[in-house]
Amino acid sequence: MTIIGENLARVHKRIVAACHTAGRDPSEVSLLAVSKSMAAQAVAKALAAGQQAFGENYIQEALVKIAALSQLNIEWHCIGPIQSNKTRLVAENFDWVQSIDRLKIAQRLSEQRPLHLAPLQVCIQVNIDGGASKAGVMPEEALVLARQIAALPQLRLRGLMTIPEPAPDFDSACSVHLKTRTLFNALRRDGLPLDTLSMGMSDDLEAAIHCGSTLVRVGSAIFGPRPRALHL
Ligand SMILES: *Cc1c(COP(=O)(O)O)cnc(C)c1O
Repeated sequence: MTIIGENLARVHKRIVAACHTAGRDPSEVSLLAVSKSMAAQAVAKALAAGQQAFGENYIQEALVKIAALSQLNIEWHCIGPIQSNKTRLVAENFDWVQSIDRLKIAQRLSEQRPLHLAPLQVCIQVNIDGGASKAGVMPEEALVLARQIAALPQLRLRGLMTIPEPAPDFDSACSVHLKTRTLFNALRRDGLPLDTLSMGMSDDLEAAIHCGSTLVRVGSAIFGPRPRALHL
């Protein structure tokens, strides 16, 4: 087995163990492999080991990989910031966008999504711990934005995504993830048919699953440490 295959197996074990501890069915939690700054070949190796969904942060870098692997059956998620001049490329090349935090971007994605493709599956990114410089809507703005996005024809609103600050331990990670879970429940109670709570990364996936995550986004635990130089 490749190292990537072994790492993937280890991450799956962690997910299953976290589900058991939390009294949840492991089938409720999916794994997104975050392949930012990794070569197309690393994606191909993970795919060969059974991983089908991949997340990318940088549009130009992602497009190179999407083109190189276009013959393979991969679900591509955009999880990084999107400028308005990049929405067409995103609408044409990705299956999911998890990083929507303004209506204008959502409107452009809906208008530019080719009609022969399935609607773009989207999540709203929420700035759940309030970092001033951070991407994401403030929690109190999420409901209004969610209603607006749910009305766009070529988008299908699936849920919420968060990237909290790294937490020192399980309990502090949980206290932030529980806020997202509470917001997610409030939106569902409002009638929005959301099924995706995207939270948890390599270091906090156990806490996120404990708090109701349905999609963990894992990079370094699968692909190893990222080369630093590329995107700083
Ligand atoms: C990089 C990244 C991840 C994965 O982080 P790891 O700590 O390497 O697992 C998850 N989500 C987003 C949005 C990221 O940018």
